[in-house]
Amino acid sequence: MLAPASGRAGAAAEQVTIGHVASSIGALDFTRMVHVIDYEFGISAIDSGYQRPLLAAIHMIVEGGRVAIIDTGVNSSAPRVLAALRDKGLRPEQVDYVILTHIHLDHAGGAGLLLAQLPNARLTVHPRGARHMVDPSKLIESTIAVYGAEEARRTYGEIVPVPRERIIETVHQSTLKLDGREFVFFDTPGHARHHVCVFDAKSGHLFAGDTFGLSYRELDCNGRQFAFPTTSPTQFDPLAAHRSLELILGLKPGAIYVTHYSQVRDIVRIGADMHRLIEAHEQLARRERDAGAARHESLKVGVTEIVMGEAQRYGWKLTREQVLGIFAGDIELNAQGLAIWLDASGAD
Ligand SMILES: [Zn+2]
Repeated sequence: MLAPASGRAGAAAEQVTIGHVASSIGALDFTRMVHVIDYEFGISAIDSGYQRPLLAAIHMIVEGGRVAIIDTGVNSSAPRVLAALRDKGLRPEQVDYVILTHIHLDHAGGAGLLLAQLPNARLTVHPRGARHMVDPSKLIESTIAVYGAEEARRTYGEIVPVPRERIIETVHQSTLKLDGREFVFFDTPGHARHHVCVFDAKSGHLFAGDTFGLSYRELDCNGRQFAFPTTSPTQFDPLAAHRSLELILGLKPGAIYVTHYSQVRDIVRIGADMHRLIEAHEQLARRERDAGAARHESLKVGVTEIVMGEAQRYGWKLTREQVLGIFAGDIELNAQGLAIWLDASGAD
């Protein structure tokens, strides 16, 4: 997902608390409450607070007292990360890496601000994303182009540049070690050309950013999870998306952590769904290719139909209104991304 600006209904109330770092927080100090889910292997998810609860996760890995943060959310997420560290008895000095899966602002918008508070951390990013983290003017420009200056400022604030010398570019199959724990980076285009997935050798789990789709926890039904592709602007490429999915499935991860939202299991079934749903998006785009002025609306109707088809298939116990509330931002962005793909002649 890039960054839906509005239209997200709050299907998940603030009470949908799976866990939170509350032990050092006064019982009445709800402003400092941060939702954290702790998994095995020292892996945790921190709710970034972006847009609504359970929309965007920041992941954290702790190994031998050293810390890696995967994706950062937006500027207002930085205090949440620091609070989560504090609650685990960890100091900012113990963070060695801030790892970006890609540079869409709901993942990377808070990187500069967070890094300024982590004296020993280096930022890792896909080679295509590095210069935009050093000079975020293009990122800001393109965000303003989509949302307008006011909305962009309101949602993302000032994007803080990252000093060049603190950046590590993660090329395909490069590795990093966190106190000896190895992470392998894979180039995974499809959602964005500046996207990497991170394989954690110790757990056998994968951090997939947006490449394994959106898996909102509100849609879990009878213990079954679900994922939906995000074809958001401006670099959606279905062929690359299928290939990246194959790469991911080939790694046979025991679990995948997606940004929207956190841990996914049952990878083989959900991977097959993802292939099918990417295909459905591609077919929709080709069908509406010559729809002229009505194309954006037709694409939105088409994406809505795909969503509602899944609602039926999975038997979600939600009303149509609730489902469309959860996906409102994504339906808009997926339609925009498909249109940009068509215009870039990707459909030839
Ligand atoms: Zn994204």
